[in-house]
Amino acid sequence: MSPSQALRATPTAAPRTNSKVETEYRKRTVGSAKLYAEACEVIPAGLTHDSRTLLPYPIYAARAAGPRKWDVDGNAYVDYFGGHGALLLGHCHPAVVAAVQEQVALGTHWGSSQELEVRWAELVHRLVPCAERVRFTASGTEASHLALRLARAHTGKSKVVRFVGHFHGWHDQVAPGGMSHFDGSVPAGIPPSVVEQTILLPADDVGVVAATLKQRDDIAAVILEGSGASWGMVPLPPGFLTGLRATTTEHGVLLILDEVITGFRWSRGGAQARFGVTPDLCVLAKIVAGGLPGGAVAGRREIMDQLDPAAAAAAKREKIGHQGTFNANPLCAAAAVTTLSIVEREDVCAKAEATAAEIRAGMRQILIEEDVPWGIYGDASAFLVFQNPKRLRIDPADFDPLRLGFKDLKAVRDANLSHRLRIAMLSNGVDFMGAPGGLVSASHGPAEVAHTLEAFRVSVRWLKDEGDIVA
Ligand code: PMP
Repeated sequence: MSPSQALRATPTAAPRTNSKVETEYRKRTVGSAKLYAEACEVIPAGLTHDSRTLLPYPIYAARAAGPRKWDVDGNAYVDYFGGHGALLLGHCHPAVVAAVQEQVALGTHWGSSQELEVRWAELVHRLVPCAERVRFTASGTEASHLALRLARAHTGKSKVVRFVGHFHGWHDQVAPGGMSHFDGSVPAGIPPSVVEQTILLPADDVGVVAATLKQRDDIAAVILEGSGASWGMVPLPPGFLTGLRATTTEHGVLLILDEVITGFRWSRGGAQARFGVTPDLCVLAKIVAGGLPGGAVAGRREIMDQLDPAAAAAAKREKIGHQGTFNANPLCAAAAVTTLSIVEREDVCAKAEATAAEIRAGMRQILIEEDVPWGIYGDASAFLVFQNPKRLRIDPADFDPLRLGFKDLKAVRDANLSHRLRIAMLSNGVDFMGAPGGLVSASHGPAEVAHTLEAFRVSVRWLKDEGDIVA
């Protein structure tokens, strides 16, 4: 079975009847199993996003509120998917619901300029240090695509430095090395000539980047996740970001920070405000659109003004094209303005971060008590579980992901073990993201923390009983 086949399960996959973890899950989720079988008849793999893969099948959600969601079988879950990180305020924040309800009756798409997009851009401008100008898109993938186009046009150069394991959406230019093809090889469906335009480097030594920028004069930009790959699954070594800022400035190369996850989460002003490193451009999505679809590119005026025909002409530059039917549509703008106003007014990032710190500490303590050689880590309001697939000698009390690296933290992962933990957690009322791990919202509180820790202890014991964890 190939690795990608191993990640999937068709509904005809035989149930593992000797597994309590799987039996419990199947018992509680009959409605989800039925929907998955129906989905597989019309949707490839029955899934609409690769990251929603779950063995033996995913849950089908029916509703959500605050930190919780419910599936079609009526089971409640403490939710750490948080709309793939888009829901810093939790599900269905009353002010966001009211704003969207009001807007839907006024029109979802006017095909016109509108006040909400101005207020939205003003909020991004006030909150995000680099955001002298803002342009909205319909997703993070589109925003990363636009940022690269702006950078290439501004510098007149074509190559972009990226880092192994850093994810910037699914468009062709950033496909290899993000979630697969970590050796930079060409994924099926993507022209080799596109892949050749990016230079994939390891994100563990700023000296390698500096040497690359020094040797070559065809590099437009360096793009990275400020958290390290996959919202901190592979953290950056200390000094990496500041070193990158210095070397890109020295060589006249643009620094693009992908803040799709970290924006309005790592701090009100994102990773750039948290770490005091101002990029030339940043890529935003998720929280920026208040939990509805949307994204943005923000950055230095002279780069962004390539989108303005008059400014481009005055600077003797070609105007850069950018369309998009749903850019800054009123429905998303209403959710966005409401959410970002709350981010500006209240310290929701700090609240989510404090809760995440409690979760990390509690889970770490459970690993120590249960004698499990895994690690718990994560920055800001994220938490991650390192499941130690190679059975390294790990002491959960002093686990430091920086002592490992990309290979152990992201390249070599045991998807089945991750799925086993996740279905055990689901059977105990908690939905973890695939890392496995989660993104905490400001609506999570002590009751959710207590429930999560109890579920984690029970799940770990189940996995120990079934031989998934060997102390
Ligand atoms: N960049 C990062 C860091 C992301 O995490 C994501 C989405 N998970 C994207 C870009 C792409 O955003 P979208 O899914 O909105 O296209």
